[in-house]
Amino acid sequence: MKPKSDFSIKIEGTVGSCPVGEKWGSQNAREGKIPVISCEGACIRGEIARLAANLVSKEEPYRRGCHGEMFTVPGSAIAQWMRASEKVVVIDGCFLQCHGRVMKHLVAEERLVLFDALAVYKKYTDLFDIEAVPEAERRRVARLVADTVISALGKGAKGPASSGCGSAQPAGFCGREK
Ligand code: SF4
Repeated sequence: MKPKSDFSIKIEGTVGSCPVGEKWGSQNAREGKIPVISCEGACIRGEIARLAANLVSKEEPYRRGCHGEMFTVPGSAIAQWMRASEKVVVIDGCFLQCHGRVMKHLVAEERLVLFDALAVYKKYTDLFDIEAVPEAERRRVARLVADTVISALGKGAKGPASSGCGSAQPAGFCGREK
């Protein structure tokens, strides 16, 4: 289904910068690392996506990007690294693809690799609170999502699909394969 019209939000500018973020962005740009972000949603789905993004970013050549600097501090080293990277991995918590939809307007679509974590584990849809799922289980499910993402990336997952996640794709993968 075609979404409703695109829309914009206005963001207050800043002259501030995060010292460690500048170092992190510059180093990863220099080393050609691939940024990974999650939707950072407040619910259990966002938390599992966040944990999965942390796990994927421990693998080579991936490193954790920051959606906050990417969206609101465009001159930061992290935002510059993410805009220039050959691809950006986005793990959204669910089918709403909150960060994937934003990123499509910040990075060329063919450089985005989008995932829907919920499509991998298909549980907890009646829960919001993160702590409604025991920590050990959260971590186990995040590991499953991360392994699915790592496997899809290893198979050359590339570029966004125009109509969201397709059933013919690996579980959770919302982009086209080569
Ligand atoms: S993608 Fe889903 S889990 Fe993530 S912020 Fe949006 S609604 Fe929340």
